[in-house]
Amino acid sequence: MDIRILSGDITKQRVDAIVNAANSSLLGGGGVDGAIHRAGGPAILAECQELRRGQYGKGLPTGQAVATTAGRLDADWVIHTVGPVYSPAEDRSALLASCYRESLALADRLGADSIAFPAVSAGVYGWPAASAAAIAVAAVREAEASVADVRFVLFTEELLAAFQQALG
Ligand code: ADP
Repeated sequence: MDIRILSGDITKQRVDAIVNAANSSLLGGGGVDGAIHRAGGPAILAECQELRRGQYGKGLPTGQAVATTAGRLDADWVIHTVGPVYSPAEDRSALLASCYRESLALADRLGADSIAFPAVSAGVYGWPAASAAAIAVAAVREAEASVADVRFVLFTEELLAAFQQALG
């Protein structure tokens, strides 16, 4: 597995699977979620709505992952995962690690060879950059996935530096 840290807009990546830091509703939001739906077009939202009418009637639980096709994005799949909201009072790092592990396992089942992750939970959900990066890098390194090409695509200088530090 080749793990790389890149800077920029994840919607511009040419990969088999782009991971979305979604919210439990799967019906869109701000941040990277909004960017993915804007760039990918209405097909993604239509599939998310279908998921809500079916298996995920109550929404996608935190730490889990589900795939849709990728609309106009230069990718085959969008893997939606729901990160935990950061809490200083409660350790939710296992749920954040689960987002990466479950996304990679799903990518494997889909036959994806390349995957791009944003910094899940590190935006509106408030996770401190250094901790978010350490959890993400450790979870991916520990995963037993056959995805060959793993990219973290960071949108801020602070997260870029934190992920570079975590990767070593
Ligand atoms: P969460 O609710 O899980 O915190 P956000 O979307 O608010 O999700 O933020 C997750 C991370 O995605 C943040 O670091 C944010 O800066 C970043 N981000 C926002 N837009 C993009 C984009 N187009 N490409 C990559 N990362 C992005």
